[in-house]
Amino acid sequence: MYRSISTQAIVIRRERIGEFHKSLSLLTADLGLITAIAYGAYKSQSRLRLGSEPFTWSAVQLYHNPVRKSYKVTELEIHASFEGLQGDLSRLAAASLWAEVIQKSFGAGEMTGGLFGLFRESLEILERAEPALESYVTMQFLWRFLSLAGYQPDIECCDSCGAPLGERGPAWYTPRSHALLCAACGLHTGAPLPQGALRYLGATREMPLARAVVVTLDEGSRAALRDTLLGMVQSVLEGSLASIPWVRSGR
Ligand SMILES: [Zn+2]
Repeated sequence: MYRSISTQAIVIRRERIGEFHKSLSLLTADLGLITAIAYGAYKSQSRLRLGSEPFTWSAVQLYHNPVRKSYKVTELEIHASFEGLQGDLSRLAAASLWAEVIQKSFGAGEMTGGLFGLFRESLEILERAEPALESYVTMQFLWRFLSLAGYQPDIECCDSCGAPLGERGPAWYTPRSHALLCAACGLHTGAPLPQGALRYLGATREMPLARAVVVTLDEGSRAALRDTLLGMVQSVLEGSLASIPWVRSGR
């Protein structure tokens, strides 16, 4: 009762099973996030060995057993292995944070194709990014993830009173309604999101990712936006992200 499926996939995580097998978390273009077993992938002569390493993007052939709800990897044809990430701890940490976000969101059904495209493009840009721009790639990934997940807050108007945001002062994020509030309505808990950060989000929202990541902010706004975006994503995922301490926080 096996069914053969071909799609695009990026390895999010791999775990060893027994001596030679790998259990892979794959973010796929068509099936969302799935777990698939690559039998024998730890053997040195296995043709699945390289393609089953983290952050490798491949055309993948799968066998699906609908009764056992299991997937088996039969072929991996590598498109890119993002080698620029492998030797660089800081870039690897950023990619690991994104992977954790994807893992914890369970590849959330409807955003499947969009999330695959966002992750792939973000890895491509991160691999070549100047160190000073790495945190912008992460911020754009998180902001666009929120949009795909349906939780991107309105940056134009206060969620409570409808007043325009960013004109009279900073805004405050409230995890309770996943929304931004004006200075008058904000609970003044946590750090405010400066006007510059709100303008940045508005200005880069429709830009292609590669262009958006080279738009920069003053240091105070950048740090505040980074922390706010991490807070937003963790509140949407209803849990903390273990990778955050490893990610470069400054320039
Ligand atoms: Zn308000």
